[in-house]
Amino acid sequence: MFDQRTGKTWPLLIGGEARPALSGRVFQTLNPATGAHLADVAEAGIADVDLAVASARQAFEEIWGPMRAADRGALLLRFAEVIRQHSEELTQLESLDSGKPVSAIRRQDLPAVIDTLIYYAGWADKITGTVTPARPDALTYTVREPLGVVGAIIPWNFPLMIGMWKIAPALACGCTVVLKPAEITPLTAIRLGELALEAGLPPGVLNVVPGFGKVAGQAIVDHPDIDKVTFTGSPVVGRQILQGAAGNLKRVTLELGGKSANIIFPDADIDAAVRAAGSGIFFNTGQVCSAGSRILVHESIHDEVAGKLAARAKSMRLGNPQEAGTSMGPVVSEVQMNRILTYIEIGRAEGAQLITGGARHGDQGYFIEPTVFANVRHEMRISQEEIFGPVAAVVPFKDDDDALRLANGTVYSLAAGVWTADMTRAHRFTRRLKAGTVWVNTYGPTDIRLPWGGARDSGFGREHGEEAIDNFTEPKVVWINTGPA
Ligand code: NAP
Ligand code: MG
Repeated sequence: MFDQRTGKTWPLLIGGEARPALSGRVFQTLNPATGAHLADVAEAGIADVDLAVASARQAFEEIWGPMRAADRGALLLRFAEVIRQHSEELTQLESLDSGKPVSAIRRQDLPAVIDTLIYYAGWADKITGTVTPARPDALTYTVREPLGVVGAIIPWNFPLMIGMWKIAPALACGCTVVLKPAEITPLTAIRLGELALEAGLPPGVLNVVPGFGKVAGQAIVDHPDIDKVTFTGSPVVGRQILQGAAGNLKRVTLELGGKSANIIFPDADIDAAVRAAGSGIFFNTGQVCSAGSRILVHESIHDEVAGKLAARAKSMRLGNPQEAGTSMGPVVSEVQMNRILTYIEIGRAEGAQLITGGARHGDQGYFIEPTVFANVRHEMRISQEEIFGPVAAVVPFKDDDDALRLANGTVYSLAAGVWTADMTRAHRFTRRLKAGTVWVNTYGPTDIRLPWGGARDSGFGREHGEEAIDNFTEPKVVWINTGPA
């Protein structure tokens, strides 16, 4: 467990070996609930990324790529089993490093990690091609081949879960991976790499290079021997990744942010809608790409919904994330805390009506009170920009067309929700909302079997489901001359 490692530097994992950075450099990771130093971590530099890519390349060419697909699948199932055996350890570690409540990790993150791995383990030997009778004088068919070496760059909001969303399909397809966790939450990624080895994944199949985005992340993006980068994070870095990837024309999948609308009509079950709107914005302290951060409410029920949402906000239990009764932890870092507090000031200055929260909670760790702004106008920055914290913007609308105009009126296009008893309206909204996922009379569930992703500043490409298999493989055409028919 964690205590036994206190005082030890957490390593890079390259070619199956735990090693220090070639530079000898380390960085610190903190516990955001206290601000206390949690661990020192080896800081990957460009030369370390080079080594990791070389080992991933070798493992891809010599072991993992050529392996019988069913054997790859069986190893991934073993990996899932080893993770299950270490669930509680991973839960504690994720909570300490990110501030996420253990209750939420047990309920959501860990089950999703295991489900993802089992789901893609099942895919490993079911990736097939097609026979297309293109000509009478040839046998023409396709096979799907793995892309090769994948660079996975992940954020800090769901380190284990988003990490696995990338690792599992890549490995199932026969690709090998160089994983760079966010610098503020590196620990569970390193532990995942260790557990993969324990489960029998060959050395070099999953390499982990904790470090800074501008160095280790950029080295992945620029690397000429990486075939694909799969990224989750901010639009700013997403754009940098596209530029870097131009060098060797890497494939890129980008899952960026959102400013998702959760639309509530008067004919909906209002209490259910408010409950879901509350978790839609306060779950994971609002640090969710698909957070329902704009709650669009018909003007006739605006005050009722805003009031009930504020009551839910007040009922949240902020505190030690390692305690089972805590429903909201801190945000992940001092930088994020200050960024969110700045947005709260912006909301006030713009004239939005602050009805609950609005301040830091306590003076230890990076806690922010769950905050609700009512009577927010669509043009306000707090209604347009991703805050990535526990800050709800309740925006009144007049009618269906107004709701659609507001919902679609940001640079993002990731997710949306609509609450109504009128199924004609619900279907109309599912058609007209610009989003990768539209929820009706619910908000927020995802499933690894269903494609996930967005458009515009929310990025492009899809993770999850069969789409992820397509994104880590490429068809090859085989054309066999069979002579005249
Ligand atoms: P970020 O900078 O985009 O970080 C995401 C990942 O990219 C991290 O591993 C980061 O490493 C890495 N990175 C940074 N610069 C890079 C570069 N030049 N090349 C390659 N990789 C690079 O996000 P953030 O600063 O942590 O958060 C800022 C905002 O991003 C948030 O407030 C939120 O709006 C958004 N965000 C969205 C999601 C999502 O789920 N879509 C998740 C997290 C954040 P370092 O950690 O070392 O910088
Ligand atoms: Mg940390």
